[in-house]
Amino acid sequence: MNSKGLLLVISGPAGAGKGTVVKELMKDENMRLSISATTRAPRGAEQDGVEYHFLSREKFEELIDEDGFYEYAQYLGNYYGSPKKPVENWQNEGRDVILEIEVQGCEKVKKVQPECISIFIMPPSIEVLEKRLRGRGTETEENVQKRMARAKEELPKAKEYDYVVVNGALEDCVEDVKCIIRAEKLKVKN
Ligand code: 5GP
Repeated sequence: MNSKGLLLVISGPAGAGKGTVVKELMKDENMRLSISATTRAPRGAEQDGVEYHFLSREKFEELIDEDGFYEYAQYLGNYYGSPKKPVENWQNEGRDVILEIEVQGCEKVKKVQPECISIFIMPPSIEVLEKRLRGRGTETEENVQKRMARAKEELPKAKEYDYVVVNGALEDCVEDVKCIIRAEKLKVKN
């Protein structure tokens, strides 16, 4: 038995539905979600400290220098990073922690904590992905194009994850991820 909480890394291209899956997982009271810091501007109704900590590039780089991030990466010209302290504290308290991050971040986390569980949320098709991305209504056409191009780079990375879950129907996808978590908790750790 492991008293330290699980570290779940959830990735997948923008529009794959990671956010919705995470929201469902957060209904478990032992689950904690790391709120990332980013230098990108808030989108739609996003609030500072809720979806992200919105920081200037200067402040973000200051935190990098202070070793304040568990991992960080650049995505479409902006920094994104997981503040270190909350992740460490929650895990030590036995909470399960979700990092909803892109693929470079996952590679870094695997180096620091190889026992983390990485899950790639895969859209059922490129067409569905584009439709979902446009459906948000908060993205400019330029951003949709950039995110689609990035998605095409990210999809082949799915095979580097421990699990790949296709998000066709949300309920099934959430159920699959919950099964993974349950199985990981029952695993005999050698
Ligand atoms: P968005 O701008 O759509 O909110 O996020 C863009 C990408 O950055 C998504 O793939 C999201 O998972 C990822 N991301 C969000 N926070 C972090 C983080 O702290 N670290 C890394 N590496 N990626 C992040």
